[in-house]
Amino acid sequence: MILTLKTGTSKKEVDNVIAKIKELGFTPSLSRGTERVVIGVIGDKAIVHKDKFATMEAVDFITPISKPYKLVSREFKKENTIVSIGKDVHVGSKQVVVIGGPCSIDTKENLILTAREIKKAGGHLLRGGAFKPRTSPYSFQGLGEKGLELLAEAKKLTGLPTVTEVMDPRQVELICEYADVLQIGARNAQNFDLLKEVGQCAKPVILKRGFATTVEEWLMSAEYIVSKGNHQVILCERGIRTFETATRNTLDLSAIPVAKHLSHLPVMVDPSHGVGVREYIVPMALAAIAAGADGVMVEVHPVPAEALSDGHQALLPIQFQHMMKQIKLVAEAVGRTI
Ligand code: PEP
Ligand code: MN
Repeated sequence: MILTLKTGTSKKEVDNVIAKIKELGFTPSLSRGTERVVIGVIGDKAIVHKDKFATMEAVDFITPISKPYKLVSREFKKENTIVSIGKDVHVGSKQVVVIGGPCSIDTKENLILTAREIKKAGGHLLRGGAFKPRTSPYSFQGLGEKGLELLAEAKKLTGLPTVTEVMDPRQVELICEYADVLQIGARNAQNFDLLKEVGQCAKPVILKRGFATTVEEWLMSAEYIVSKGNHQVILCERGIRTFETATRNTLDLSAIPVAKHLSHLPVMVDPSHGVGVREYIVPMALAAIAAGADGVMVEVHPVPAEALSDGHQALLPIQFQHMMKQIKLVAEAVGRTI
């Protein structure tokens, strides 16, 4: 349920409404628009207490939210959320944001070289996995903290903000010390304890869609993060499981307009895991931007044969450079910038 307060409501009156919400055992979520204060009343059966708020002087009107997710819904907030990373990157604005980097961080030389190439081509963020969610326990699991140190070094040399995956609530604090953005991978999209943990940190979160989750379930996962107080969530479509085997997954481009219609959160697309075949990544990145995505994340490696994971789907730096030029054209055609 959303309480829209009257224009010109004083801070004291806002505090009174918040106190009332807490007194009844619910959680308030405050959002200040240009003219009005809007407060979400979060909790099961909040609507039962509608009359207690309707009689408050400061409350102008009450809107129930019909969706099971509340804070991330368009019903709750009409304007697009913009997640800023540093001073130059604004995901959800007119700017199309491009993230590139290796699936797993391996050597210092490879990572620094990749970072420099991404920067040179006009990419905005550097990605790299240090804790890897591998299907087999015998596959390379990532360099751990050593990988995070290399990521921080690459940032220092290039100025590119960084993204890395967090797999366990116990890693959140450590990863927050090194990275600018936390990534929740597809396999952990419904790891609710992890979602609650990143919901309590002050860093933006890229939330991948699980490969067997509906858009509604994906938004419920985002709700877990936002309901804990972290509003900086970026949704990321990365392909879902279907009967098709020509591609690693089926990249659900329709999820872009659907998620944007249902939610105010920015939506990015990861075509690398979406298709898993180098040749098909760039066309799908371009299609994602044309369909309204706020950015793309792709895997890049200077020597794919040496990559310790996902080398087969890594773009070479030169391919990344070409992709950036094409993205610029598509972005401009749909009224965006890069
Ligand atoms: C990744 O981005 O490195 C990754 C493992 O992706 P996903 O969680 O989408 O499979
Ligand atoms: Mn990968």
